[in-house]
Amino acid sequence: MNWNTHLKAQSTRATHLYHNLLKIAGKSWGVPLIHRRTLYKSVTERVLAHGAVAWCLEPTVRIARKLSTIQRPFLLAISGAYRTTSTAALQIILGIPPLHLQLQREARGTALFRLRLPLSTNLSDIDPSEIEKATGWSTHPSEHLSPTQISLDDGGNINTGLRFYTDGSKAERGVGAAFCVLTDVNITHRWSTRLSLRNTVFQAEILALLKAVEHAVSLPTQQLTILVDNQASINSAANPKSHNSIARKIFKLLHSYPHIRVSWMKAHAGYIGNEEADRLAKEAAETENFPETPLELPKSFIKTFLRQKMLETWQMAWDDGDTGRLIHNIIPKVSLHPINWTRNEVLFFTGPGPFPSFLHRFNLAETSFCSCGEIGTPIHYSTVCLLTTSYHMSPPSQQHQPIWFRRVANNSTSRRKIHNLLHFLQRETSLFRPDPN
Ligand SMILES: [Zn+2]
Repeated sequence: MNWNTHLKAQSTRATHLYHNLLKIAGKSWGVPLIHRRTLYKSVTERVLAHGAVAWCLEPTVRIARKLSTIQRPFLLAISGAYRTTSTAALQIILGIPPLHLQLQREARGTALFRLRLPLSTNLSDIDPSEIEKATGWSTHPSEHLSPTQISLDDGGNINTGLRFYTDGSKAERGVGAAFCVLTDVNITHRWSTRLSLRNTVFQAEILALLKAVEHAVSLPTQQLTILVDNQASINSAANPKSHNSIARKIFKLLHSYPHIRVSWMKAHAGYIGNEEADRLAKEAAETENFPETPLELPKSFIKTFLRQKMLETWQMAWDDGDTGRLIHNIIPKVSLHPINWTRNEVLFFTGPGPFPSFLHRFNLAETSFCSCGEIGTPIHYSTVCLLTTSYHMSPPSQQHQPIWFRRVANNSTSRRKIHNLLHFLQRETSLFRPDPN
């Protein structure tokens, strides 16, 4: 089982997709780069990712290399770069990670979320059974809360009956959830707990609401309102189709106890109940040995974690790589967002472009000299060549070339000049080739 056959099939499929992309992209680069990129991300990558959990959880060097070969023509077609441009540089410019890392990230997600398999222990201590799961069937359609039970109007001025105030808080050291009960003008009940740093504020908010509802249920039936300064948790609790298991519990309780009312209120407007709940939640979040409530890990935490792991691995490869160093000088940090360069700018900064110095190296021109008599490098044309004076910028001193490139790439006016210069070089090719006679 070395997945040779599968990879070959994937490769064939990719070739088909590639030709389709070329048809759309066209020779004149008619479709903007950003749309070609979207096409790749939403169609090609989806097809290639098929069943990745079976074969790309721990990709071997051979698989990684094969996937790189499959990905490369797409990167060239999306960027419009010359065929000799390094794959690593194109990935950085387009914000597209190496294919084996992208597929591995998806494989890990499938393993954790769907198959409930742990990842290798040197990667994480995440126990798949602790991850939040969707609760399956929603409530019966006939079950819904009465419209008077939930209010999204500001209930801050409610001053009759028992008033419950809930809050959730996230600090650097932890997450806290709390509620308190106000009878007339006195706080008569307090509850708070600490959650793991892996939990979200939303989880804290919704847990506080559940605990408040549970406490309300235990009291004799009377007029009472739970005041929540977070609309998302109210909406989630009132939604019979919510997939959040805590929200589902709240919905069931509210449905069985229609005297319990939940109202939104504007936060921190000087109400003692709201301020006390806020204080309790912050205290729980910031006190390290505070009693903790274990809660399922939110999917968002796992997704962020997997993305982070992928970016770390990509960053190491980018820092240690030996190709695309001109681009590494300009863009040292990997990112999932494309650099906003035109095709001309890509040609200039990567190196392979319509310059005699480059063309000669690949036998595409007879000489590396410009017709002005100097060697035709990118810097030559953008700073000193007599034929391109209207596109000139001040030249770098020899040892400052890397800084010069960084500065030019980070300045939109300079990039505009570069774009126009390249346009000129490509239109007036014959001007820049020495007369062979
Ligand atoms: Zn010249």
